[in-house]
Amino acid sequence: MAQRPRYRFAPSPTGYFHVGGARTALYNWILALQTGGVFVLRIEDTDDSRNNPQWTQGILDALAWLGIDASDSHFEGPYFQSANTALHVEAAEKLFAQGAAYYCDLTSEDIQKRSKESGRPGYDGYSRDRKLGPGAGRVLRFKVPPGSTTVQDEVRGSVEFDNATIEDFVLLRGNGTPMFLLANVVDDITQGVTHVVRAEEHLPNAPKQQMIWRALGHQPPSWAHVPVLVNEQRKKLSKRRDKVAVEQYRDEGILAAAMKNYLMTLGWAPTGETEIVPFEKIVREFKLGSVNHSPAFFDIVKLQSFNAEYLRAMSVGEFIDACQPWLRGDKAPWQAGAYDAKVFAEMAPLVQTRVQLLQDVPGMVGFLFCELPTIDQAAFAKAFAPGWARPTLVEIRDEFANCVFTAEKLKLTVEAVGERHSLKLGKLQAPLRVAITGRSVGPPLFEPLVLLGRAAVLKRIDSALATRT
Ligand code: GLU
Repeated sequence: MAQRPRYRFAPSPTGYFHVGGARTALYNWILALQTGGVFVLRIEDTDDSRNNPQWTQGILDALAWLGIDASDSHFEGPYFQSANTALHVEAAEKLFAQGAAYYCDLTSEDIQKRSKESGRPGYDGYSRDRKLGPGAGRVLRFKVPPGSTTVQDEVRGSVEFDNATIEDFVLLRGNGTPMFLLANVVDDITQGVTHVVRAEEHLPNAPKQQMIWRALGHQPPSWAHVPVLVNEQRKKLSKRRDKVAVEQYRDEGILAAAMKNYLMTLGWAPTGETEIVPFEKIVREFKLGSVNHSPAFFDIVKLQSFNAEYLRAMSVGEFIDACQPWLRGDKAPWQAGAYDAKVFAEMAPLVQTRVQLLQDVPGMVGFLFCELPTIDQAAFAKAFAPGWARPTLVEIRDEFANCVFTAEKLKLTVEAVGERHSLKLGKLQAPLRVAITGRSVGPPLFEPLVLLGRAAVLKRIDSALATRT
């Protein structure tokens, strides 16, 4: 029986879950789904100084949010690298015993001194033939063979490395703990990994790791190194400079489906007219071989417009459900008890087509759930600056006091005032909008007026007219 392909995602839990990591995870997940394979999750938690259980949980939550579901039959793990130290050390001892690795007692100062003297950078293989055994402070180094190493990469093609440019790299530190290159390979071997799909920054590690695979008597996996994500200045996305945390986008109200779809269009595209496609189509069509070699621009504006499209494609009921976390509890900007689900349901279709992020929803409807809106001072000053602003608002107020209170009638009423003053509706309603909502932009105005009711509307207009700038 053919072996099930085994992909893996091996994040280090050292911070928020990076969008680049999310893309790599999706690639591996999709490939496992396509091939009836396995997605192994391995948490590479061996760097004690930087790891934190909180980050591990963050990775698990973010993966679940993206639909990489730990209860799915394609999912295996999570495994924890820190639990496998004995296997890493055992493999290192095997490499030493078979002559593929050697101990070295040079300190980094010694190495620097030798390198300065010879004019050649890096470690020069000084201890290769000194036949040292293990001992305190001695590192174990891999004996890089002569010749060259070719990495067959599914994204980058065949990449050849001259072994002369690869120094004898460290497998075990002076205190006996395993280094990343070794731990990563031994875990891949132990976990039966057949395909390594990861970020391009690991490409220089691939020849070294391939040598370890072979020296341990195993056929190396199939490699794929996917191009990095960059910001608008074409600089690699960085935690310090850019907004990279998946958690942050989730908390702003980017939908998981939009995020998944957007991430999959970075350096790759589904067939057809539009990039906005169901995940099933992506799973059917995605090919590593067609991933672009050049860095991909992570464009937040485009991500938000994907999100807007996904929000619009929802039924009103789905949209209302999706908004709930932002409308209830401590995220909501109004006083507890002020929220009215019926009023929101009326407003939802008007908001749904005007919002890019779910976090913007409360701000658009908050004026409905308070006595008087919080007035944006700049918007107020601007709207009430023209000489016609107050007199026309007084006229509107007087008409509103008596007219039939339907959205249609209110609009006709305002238009009639506009005609008397030769003002277009868009212009004329600016002071009214600020009086009612506190802001200069928002959803259509006349439906909410009806929801508020005559008394509340007149009260707000009076309050605005009584305010001096
Ligand atoms: N733990 C490594 C990282 O987070 C991944 C190594 C790999 O995918 O091989 O960068």
